[in-house]
Amino acid sequence: MKEKACMTCRMVVEDAKQCPNCNGTQFTTFWRGYIVILNASESALAQRMGIKAPGKYAFRLSR
Ligand SMILES: [Zn+2]
Repeated sequence: MKEKACMTCRMVVEDAKQCPNCNGTQFTTFWRGYIVILNASESALAQRMGIKAPGKYAFRLSR
């Protein structure tokens, strides 16, 4: 399984053709760091990043 990050919302998925969070179809395999969001509504970081669903996210995309 190869992980990749959604270029729209930065959710990290394995082997998906469509992002389960935002339904985006553009992914990158180049990113730095992980953020694990457990409760998006209580996380200031999640709100700042526009994350609404719990999951694993890329901290920063590098193209
Ligand atoms: Zn997405």
